[in-house]
Amino acid sequence: MRLTCLFLVMALCLLQLALAAEDYYKILGLDKSASEKDIKKSYRTLSKKFHPDKNPGDETAREKFVEIAEAYDVLSTPTTRKIYDQYGHEGIEQHKQGGQAGRQANDPFDLFSRFFGGGGHFGHAPGHRRGPDMEYRIGLPLRDFYNGREVTFMLEKQQICDACEGTGSADREVITCDRCSGHGRIIQKHMLAPGMFQQVQMPCDKCGGQGKMIKKPCNVCHGHRVVRKEVETSFTVEPGMQKGTRLVYENEADESPDYIAGDLVLVLEEREPEADDYEWKTDGTYFRRKGKDLFWKEALSLREAWMGEWTRNITHLDGHVVQLGRKRGQVVQPLAVETIKGEGMPFYSDADLHEDHGDDEEPGNLYVEYNVILPDQMESGMEKDFFAMWEKWRKKNGVNLDKHTGRPEAPVKDEL
Ligand SMILES: [Zn+2]
Ligand SMILES: [Zn+2]
Repeated sequence: MRLTCLFLVMALCLLQLALAAEDYYKILGLDKSASEKDIKKSYRTLSKKFHPDKNPGDETAREKFVEIAEAYDVLSTPTTRKIYDQYGHEGIEQHKQGGQAGRQANDPFDLFSRFFGGGGHFGHAPGHRRGPDMEYRIGLPLRDFYNGREVTFMLEKQQICDACEGTGSADREVITCDRCSGHGRIIQKHMLAPGMFQQVQMPCDKCGGQGKMIKKPCNVCHGHRVVRKEVETSFTVEPGMQKGTRLVYENEADESPDYIAGDLVLVLEEREPEADDYEWKTDGTYFRRKGKDLFWKEALSLREAWMGEWTRNITHLDGHVVQLGRKRGQVVQPLAVETIKGEGMPFYSDADLHEDHGDDEEPGNLYVEYNVILPDQMESGMEKDFFAMWEKWRKKNGVNLDKHTGRPEAPVKDEL
């Protein structure tokens, strides 16, 4: 008899080993040092990714979803996390059998809905309201659109109160109103005349029509079930992304226990460049963008424009240098535009990467417009020299301005 018992115990142990679930931290992609915030964040991401509504018919995703919920359930509660850290899965099993885990909902969908609000689904089921979408505009310098960047910022939004798990109740218990039995409405009889009654339905005065009551309001949200707080939010600007790009984060808008959170939409806008956006100094103006192409204005002196023999180093948005220049004798007309192929914005497409874009996958061009600056003043000696020089050469080698402007040509009126 005793032997059989021992045998049974051993068999059970073996069975338990065989069934040993995967490490809860591993399931959430974390290790033991994970903070409460890490655990929440990971649950938030993973549970949405594997939610059966997003993976219809996928049994593996469903199992994964349940596993994730179980892991979160244990690790998000300090007591059970401590037990798990010390005694592992077995400790949790014993704890549950001890009846102390009764509070926790073991239904992964219920957990999901408590975490995100609403009915645990993504809003397909009738009667599940969806909260408003939230749009947030972010101004970024052009440099970020050129190089790409990971941006992290704090965004204030409404969240389900952690302290009471969205119940509004200090002990997290919500009791059904005994006056209206949870209906939120009561029927009152008025006597209109002896023996004649009128029945009037009205909101329950005890629970304020909610059907539910709490004993003591949560001291964090004061019974409102939600709090407004700043949440760390991050996104990635890919090199070449268009301004006005909308990044949609499903169910990341304001949360409420009464509805499924709407989408958070981040709109990436290009803001005016500011001096400290660039660590380098340049002679030209800032880059301007139009679609894939970049525009730059460069100033040349009269001497440079006319005589040539000059160079300019433009420091590009990522710091690499684009050299401009002319040899001696190469003239640049005012407002002339030079095209520098491939020095515009990088190619970016949010369409399928494998899609064939043909030649469009090339980066854009850089267009440099030249502005010629004439000297305001000359020293008197210099002025005389130049004047004499013009006089000497204008008749001989001048240009006929009338011809260039399309006017009828005057007899001889050439200028330099
Ligand atoms: Zn009531
Ligand atoms: Zn609360």
